[in-house]
Amino acid sequence: MRPLVFLFLALLPGLAGAATWNIVLMNQRRYVPVSDVAAFYRMTQAGADGASFRLTSANRVIEGKSGTTDVHINGVKYVTCFPLRSRRVDGTRTDAVYISAMDVSKIIEPVMRPGKIAGAAPVRTVVLDAGHGGHDSGAVGSLGREKQYTLDVVLRARALLLKAGFQVKMTRVTDVFVPLEERANFANHFPNALFISVHFNKSNTYGGTGIETYALAPRGVPSMDEGSLRYSDFNLNPGNACDSQNIALAAAVHSAMCRRLPVPDRGVKRARFAVIRNIRIPGVLIEGGFVDSAYDARLIATAEYRQRIAQSILDAVTAYARAVGASKSTTVITAVPASTPGLSLDEGLGESASGVAPAIAHVPEPAASPVHRDKVRPVSEPVFDLEIFRERNRNAFETPWIRRLFSTDDPFSLSEPVLQSWEEPNPEPPSREGPKKSVRARPNRDFTH
Ligand SMILES: [Zn+2]
Repeated sequence: MRPLVFLFLALLPGLAGAATWNIVLMNQRRYVPVSDVAAFYRMTQAGADGASFRLTSANRVIEGKSGTTDVHINGVKYVTCFPLRSRRVDGTRTDAVYISAMDVSKIIEPVMRPGKIAGAAPVRTVVLDAGHGGHDSGAVGSLGREKQYTLDVVLRARALLLKAGFQVKMTRVTDVFVPLEERANFANHFPNALFISVHFNKSNTYGGTGIETYALAPRGVPSMDEGSLRYSDFNLNPGNACDSQNIALAAAVHSAMCRRLPVPDRGVKRARFAVIRNIRIPGVLIEGGFVDSAYDARLIATAEYRQRIAQSILDAVTAYARAVGASKSTTVITAVPASTPGLSLDEGLGESASGVAPAIAHVPEPAASPVHRDKVRPVSEPVFDLEIFRERNRNAFETPWIRRLFSTDDPFSLSEPVLQSWEEPNPEPPSREGPKKSVRARPNRDFTH
């Protein structure tokens, strides 16, 4: 099959190079060789053995391996929408690694150049969502319940965010049950806001460890726990209007957690959980570790660990606001109204004529919404840097509090699975009362969490 060749010239040479996108169809999907990605972002390709790749520039590294769904950008793991593949380059005897066009447009581009995300609003408010509550305990471990830990983390995050000058709204501030639909509806009341839902994990098979960050799966992309596409994966959800912002925020949150928490990086993943599916502002759902694993549970039970998650949230909000370049804008952008179709990627990135989106983002999407775009954007900044990976590996297991923590064999001797802020008087009145009637979560993983 002859590759379709698209030629685009970047109008902003400081940001990206001229690129030829050699698009091929594999498994009915559009793929591009990673060498095109290297050319577009002006990166150097090393170790091109046809099975793995490593692209580098002054402050960026992208790595991946054919046959996997893992791409590492600056040391942080992203689970791709579709597997990386190897393919013989036409007219040659060499193999090259290919990445799906969907992954270039939905992961690589917004993570590499968050400053070019159109429609990204300045950040004024952060909506914090403590997972579970009331009769819904969430995951239960030997040292504590998920609903307690999530509330403790968001209370800590609220204090930090308020101090930094952000407004904070909470879907719950006490131990009450709040239906998932109400959480999303609540978040949609706030313009210029981000949504961060905090959860902790439980493994079906004992032994899970590490942190995950979920961004809403783009249209036509399977959820993480499914091997194949379902019909419903092609529905356009309200949250898809913010696909690029979602992944940029996920990158900011996840890399901040990777830097601060001494647990494995399980990656930035995709799902259609109700809270991130139905919000009309950028949002993510984090899993801050496994309450049922011997290692993670002991960490999660400490105020230090939970404070670090809270600090990561502040880091991320600050980095995101700076990275999308919207923090200096005075324009107020409200949440996209319910009737507005999703913002297509072509619309989102086309203005810069930077090439990548118009070239490969032909995933069927509705017409662009009339979302405001800043005409002038500052130069793109990464939402993270390479130091995260280095610092994490150097320091992760060397801090005194972790050494102390694991110097005892008896996890129950820990003095503080007590949730310090659990009984604190709430300085801000609850934004809403508990639900009048209880709505049971449905068993489908997309609808619960
Ligand atoms: Zn949960």
